Amino acid sequence: MIDTALQSTFDEVLRRNPGEPEFHQAVREVFESLEVVQARHPEYSDAGIITRLCEPERQIIFRVPWVDDHGQVQVNRGFRVEYNSALGPYKGGLRFHRSVNLGIVKFLGFEQIFKNSLTGLPIGGGKGGSDFDPHGRSDGEVMRFCQSFMTELWRHIGEYTDVPAGDIGVGAREIGFLFGQYKRLTNRYEGGVLTGKGLDWGGSLVRKEATGYGAAIFADEMLRARGTGVEGRRVSVSGSGNVAIYAIQKVRQLGGIPVTASDSSGYVVDEDGIDLELLQQIKEVERGRIGEYEERRGGRARFVADGSVWDVPVGIALPCATQNELDADAARTLLGNGVEAVSEGANMPSTPEAVALFREAGIAFGPGKAANAGGVATSALEMQQNASRDTWTFEYTEERLTQIMRSIHTTCLETAEEFDRPGDYVLGANVAGFRKVADAMMAFGVV
Ligand code: GLU
Repeated sequence: MIDTALQSTFDEVLRRNPGEPEFHQAVREVFESLEVVQARHPEYSDAGIITRLCEPERQIIFRVPWVDDHGQVQVNRGFRVEYNSALGPYKGGLRFHRSVNLGIVKFLGFEQIFKNSLTGLPIGGGKGGSDFDPHGRSDGEVMRFCQSFMTELWRHIGEYTDVPAGDIGVGAREIGFLFGQYKRLTNRYEGGVLTGKGLDWGGSLVRKEATGYGAAIFADEMLRARGTGVEGRRVSVSGSGNVAIYAIQKVRQLGGIPVTASDSSGYVVDEDGIDLELLQQIKEVERGRIGEYEERRGGRARFVADGSVWDVPVGIALPCATQNELDADAARTLLGNGVEAVSEGANMPSTPEAVALFREAGIAFGPGKAANAGGVATSALEMQQNASRDTWTFEYTEERLTQIMRSIHTTCLETAEEFDRPGDYVLGANVAGFRKVADAMMAFGVV
């Protein structure tokens, strides 16, 4: 529910951005939390803060032509949405996946503004990507695509302007090709222009692990606030990319039992706990399918091609795959099986109906912009190391990450309390993330 003033702003968002359902969904969710802020701070609406926040500062769309291994010319579309720079240079990942379009990039960029604000670090919000799908492409094809992508993007980015990183389909291999081309085009070794770099050339320890670690830590914090924790609980994780793999690792370290992993072909259940090394071998090294896990686990795991990973009874669910992967039916099943906490490792993985069910049931629900902020927070730590030409140890960097996740958790909880909605992490995350950006925008005047 949103009030009349917000409703007319939202109607305007719908009118100006037709055919972008994910973007509408992300905006609506934030608006639903902002009603309480409007009531206490009319100065924000007087300054047009919400209207301005809905319009990206700059949107770049470009052609990405490249030649495949058969000598055929391929054309993809590249995007970078520089959404909001009130708190720092635009910061956010690049997604390479065939589903990528402007609406998806705008939803991700919009979420990123509030997420980055919540980290407490000086980073604005942005996002980008392409409808290029690296799956099934050779290293040479991926390299040529990345080089062509950067040949356009380089003029728009910089350590004080816009700092891309990875997201779905963009890992260390892609960041390497992108950085190599940026360096060649500019003739400058500007480590701070991209994050998620390799450890030998300006990357940060813990960056690879950070999003998944953070989502597991956030689940633990939410449960601790209720007197328990991850320890001893069965946990379902969806996905098998970077976020899922390291969420599984951190769940184990916290004493939980991660029993699932998935990809677009289905999911595996392993009652003994997912064998992380095997999963990494299949997914990170061989870039294979999840079904191979069952074959190579010698009868101890079960592969399910149809159905939903959320059918598996667990105490904690960590959706770490993609947007809208957990719908109302899945939420009902999880609640029926007694789930106590859901911590979103992916961006907007639960549909609005699923979120409503979790909130009504009063379980601990950590929305992505809080629960998965560990990745971008550690990117900001990578930027700090690049700026000071220093490298930190794994232990120190992980400690910083843990502190940041704890502080995000406290901020969400305290803000929810302040607005008379105790335990509502959605409201807490949206309001706390919004207020910082809004105050900076107020200070800058109408720009
Ligand atoms: N793509 C990640 C996210 O959704 C990380 C972005 C970054 O490190 O800049 O937050």
